[in-house]
Amino acid sequence: MLELPLPVDFSGKVVVITGAGGVICSVLARAFAQAGAKVAAINRSSPKIEVLAKELTEEGLICKAYQADVLDRDRLKEVHKAVLEELGPCDILLNGAGGNHPSANTDREYHHEDTPGKTFFDLEPEGIDGVFRLNFQGTLNVTQIFAADMAQRGAGCILNISSMNAFSPLTKIPAYSAAKAGVSNFTQWLANYFAGTGIRCNAIAPGFLLTNQNKALLYHEDGSPTRRTVNILAGTPMGRLVDSRELVGAALFLCCEEAASAITGVILPVDCGFSANCGV
Ligand code: NAD
Repeated sequence: MLELPLPVDFSGKVVVITGAGGVICSVLARAFAQAGAKVAAINRSSPKIEVLAKELTEEGLICKAYQADVLDRDRLKEVHKAVLEELGPCDILLNGAGGNHPSANTDREYHHEDTPGKTFFDLEPEGIDGVFRLNFQGTLNVTQIFAADMAQRGAGCILNISSMNAFSPLTKIPAYSAAKAGVSNFTQWLANYFAGTGIRCNAIAPGFLLTNQNKALLYHEDGSPTRRTVNILAGTPMGRLVDSRELVGAALFLCCEEAASAITGVILPVDCGFSANCGV
């Protein structure tokens, strides 16, 4: 069980979460379920969400697992139908599926003629396209399909996941940085577009967490921090990484109509101060 940082009540609300098998969204799925929501946990691969749904159900909470790739619109429509039948229309949508891929990264931070390894000029369009599609098109696809429930009822909340690199691009990861900037921009666009309908749309921008995806970027095999981690911590006023449980308060707050009824179009950093620090 998680200790919820806020006394919020989402009883009866249907919360749809993509990427629910991942480090961040499995914690958020648990948090919403503990707060009373009926959680639809969506993920491209099913084992992790099956385990999550079983675990939460055994605790008397409501969570169902649905396998779907956020880039497969036909499958998403099937899942939408199943969620409608089994849990009801979507009240809150959390677009968590996303991430980077090594094929879209340069090996070095800065370009020098004699630098070994993969440079900007070696990046293949497929790698770049894959990262854009997953983060941006994936978020848009799921929103088109599930926010239709909200538009019909004139109420609801969308929460996207942006990143630190959306504010300023991080070295080595041009596609992921630009794609997350797109997610932030799209969050504001949705907030405007739906403003008259009762639907709010916000994002959280997590700082640096240790996950399977970024482990090799942040730590050497012997467990010592990479130069990137040393730089990250030097640029983080609180001098530490963020724990995924520290995202729970921000997510619950932004999705709570009573607490955040006038908040839409916000990209909330949860970053131990990283985005507030210019390094000087
Ligand atoms: P994660 O890799 O642990 O989780 C991502 C989940 O999404 C995985 O379960 C994966 O199976 C699923 N997924 C991937 N592609 C999918 C697809 N096409 N369709 C459906 N599901 C798919 O990553 P995480 O760190 O928990 O990241 C969650 C979100 O937070 C992502 O959007 C990520 O970009 C963002 N984020 C992460 C960090 C960080 O430091 N970990 C920082 C900022 C933002």
